[in-house]
Amino acid sequence: MNSLRIRDVAHFSHDYDPFIPPAPCAFTEGIDPLPLHKDFTTPEAFRSFWKRERERSHWIFDSEKHSRVWYNYESPLGSLPVATIKVTGRPPQYDWSIKHLCRFSGVAKKQSEHGQRDSVRQNCPVFIRIQKLRGEERVRIEYHWLHSHDTDPVFHSAYPRGRNEQKWIESMVKDGRNWRSIREKLTLASSQITTANPEDPRPKSLLIRYDDVRSAMYRHRTLAYKKNYDVSLSVKLWMDTIRKEGGKSLFDEDVAKLDGKNYMIAWSSSFQIKIMQDNANIA
Ligand SMILES: [Zn+2]
Repeated sequence: MNSLRIRDVAHFSHDYDPFIPPAPCAFTEGIDPLPLHKDFTTPEAFRSFWKRERERSHWIFDSEKHSRVWYNYESPLGSLPVATIKVTGRPPQYDWSIKHLCRFSGVAKKQSEHGQRDSVRQNCPVFIRIQKLRGEERVRIEYHWLHSHDTDPVFHSAYPRGRNEQKWIESMVKDGRNWRSIREKLTLASSQITTANPEDPRPKSLLIRYDDVRSAMYRHRTLAYKKNYDVSLSVKLWMDTIRKEGGKSLFDEDVAKLDGKNYMIAWSSSFQIKIMQDNANIA
């Protein structure tokens, strides 16, 4: 079980392929236990179980005691081993513990009368808790698997894309693909689907729209221009860059320190300075 990585237990797949139709639910209402308790004794068995489940539904991470230290929205991108809990006092019964919720969990909000899109929160009771038992080569799950809503792609199409699809689009954008190139990929796949059996589950690639790609491209571009999540620090770093590249810049530290939101800057980039020098005689 030591070979399990954060990416193996994350709430979305890193190698998600939207062109592969989601697997049908492996459990039957009234027959399979609810919640389902199950132990996995090999990393491979757990990986293949969780890959299937997390690609079939939309999940969100739920921060529980001992889990938020090493797991946040962005960190599972890495391939770090799952960190062992270090505690003082009575040792816990597990080395690590993580909980994911169905994205449609949470208390449903009252709908406005103005035809707004349905809230994602729909009181769905589904969640999974995954724990590595201390001193044992076993991963134990507690899985409340019965959703209170449809789980097919048609149902999901009414909501923004899930984390799996978002991550897939982001990886396309990072690879330098634009909407046209992604659309070609999507169109080619959908033309092949029409010849398949209409009873088969539809792949989620059919749900990916121009707007999804456009917002991913926007986020990607914005990130490239941000040198830090703190806006004033990001601006300060840009001012430093301008200076390093032969320009002149000013960043007023005192103004920035007042509330962390305001800052005063002035700059001339190296090419602006050159234009001024070249045209000094004209003025
Ligand atoms: Zn659900």
